[in-house]
Amino acid sequence: MRVAVVGAGLAGLTAAARLTEAGAEVTVLEARDRVGGRTHGIEVAPGSWADAGAAYLGDRHTRLTELMSELDLKATPTGMVGDSRFELGHGADTRHGRFPPLNAVALGDLFDRLADVTATIRADAPWLTPDAAALDATTAAEWLENGLPHPDARLFFPLFLGEMMAADPADVSVLHMAFYLRSGGGIRYLNAFEGGAQQDRVDGGAHQICERLAVNLDVRLGQPVRSIESTDGGVTVTTDSGPHRADAVVVAIPPVLADAIDIRPRPAVPRSTERTAPGCAVKVHIIYPAPLWRDHGLSGWSVNAYGPLLSTVDDSPTDGPGVLTGFVTGTEAHRFAALPAAERRAAAVAQADRLFPFLPEPIGFHVTDWVGDEFSRGCYAALFGPGDWTRLGPTLTERHHRVHWAGTETSTEFFGLMEGAIRSGHRVAAEILTLY
Ligand SMILES: Cc1cc2nc3c(=O)[nH]c(=O)nc-3n(C[C@H](O)[C@H](O)[C@H](O)COP(=O)(O)OP(=O)(O)OC[C@H]3O[C@@H](n4cnc5c(N)ncnc54)[C@H](O)[C@@H]3O)c2cc1C
Repeated sequence: MRVAVVGAGLAGLTAAARLTEAGAEVTVLEARDRVGGRTHGIEVAPGSWADAGAAYLGDRHTRLTELMSELDLKATPTGMVGDSRFELGHGADTRHGRFPPLNAVALGDLFDRLADVTATIRADAPWLTPDAAALDATTAAEWLENGLPHPDARLFFPLFLGEMMAADPADVSVLHMAFYLRSGGGIRYLNAFEGGAQQDRVDGGAHQICERLAVNLDVRLGQPVRSIESTDGGVTVTTDSGPHRADAVVVAIPPVLADAIDIRPRPAVPRSTERTAPGCAVKVHIIYPAPLWRDHGLSGWSVNAYGPLLSTVDDSPTDGPGVLTGFVTGTEAHRFAALPAAERRAAAVAQADRLFPFLPEPIGFHVTDWVGDEFSRGCYAALFGPGDWTRLGPTLTERHHRVHWAGTETSTEFFGLMEGAIRSGHRVAAEILTLY
């Protein structure tokens, strides 16, 4: 059996590895000149790497941790020792722990309401949730507007969604928001460092997973797939270099990009709609000689309501320089990404100086713009807007002739995360091995 795989991210490569192990002849066609997709490493000092894409994992990410151990990769704890910094009102505040200095009752109400709506979701098929039509018709911004009058809840909610999903509340339906939180293990788990989804990082960078997976696979780089044609006898997958014939094809790319491929026969239901928004995140790395905030009893964690960096976290590599990672998300990501390089640097460094006034001039500065990236078109994952789950959900994993779908956006478990991508790769490989 011959299988073509479109996309050398975690989903495509785990599918390719499983299929190859089972004896299939697999060719992976990757648009970029590197593997890894939304996992990507940057060398912040000689031999020290930071994650420009996905970074964090937790103990419930079982397929990811199994894969890491097969590939001889280790997890390292995300250092979160010390106090947090907040810029949510006038000036900067230092607090023990990560609970923001805002009205506790208002935030309690917000989290109770989020927990209530999340608990109603049918995690395996959100479009079959009892109240799906109403939840899918309303944006998270409208949900906030109608039920949470306290200014502190209104201030904090967009920050929370920006951090959790790289989403602007106006872009996602309540159904998608609640599904995402449920699929990732619930609000508490998704939001937590110790014991939660941000507990660890991949030592040396998450990009190594795909690099190591690719070693034993036939991966062709620089091959954006333009068209796919299924017939009774097989499938033809065409890149700028020509056609590839196979018995089946796995399309393991974000939904908006899948819709850009000319697929024949044409699927009755697309992979995305005009309401499917890109997750909006720009990741900023500010490099210092050492993680100096630790000497001042600070963890490096901060939350800011006024931008450009929504939050910062200490991502310093073991035995490397100090790396302060900043996340710019939601609408601010578009504004920030459009600034000239010098202005982006000035704004981000000025914010770091306000938060951590003892810091010296950085020794390095990197911006990774996922919003403008041609082969990701946003991150952490696609955002399903109003109506999307009702329309797209039922065919999310349903094969179309010889075309099979994978990618984190096809996983109802850990949707949007590395774990979801790997689970989708396993699912699609099993599907193909059963059918052909
Ligand atoms: C900044 C950022 C932070 C994140 N944080 C986390 C985190 O902390 N923890 C976590 O678990 N997840 C996180 N994620 C999400 C995680 O990276 C993704 O869920 C996961 O990597 C998606 O894998 P995938 O294989 O589904 O898709 P992708 O990684 O997007 O792979 C798709 C591949 O297909 C290629 N491609 C696209 N179009 C074509 C085409 N036409 N032809 C051929 N190839 C094509 C792309 O170049 C890419 O290599 C983050 C992502 C980003 C970007």
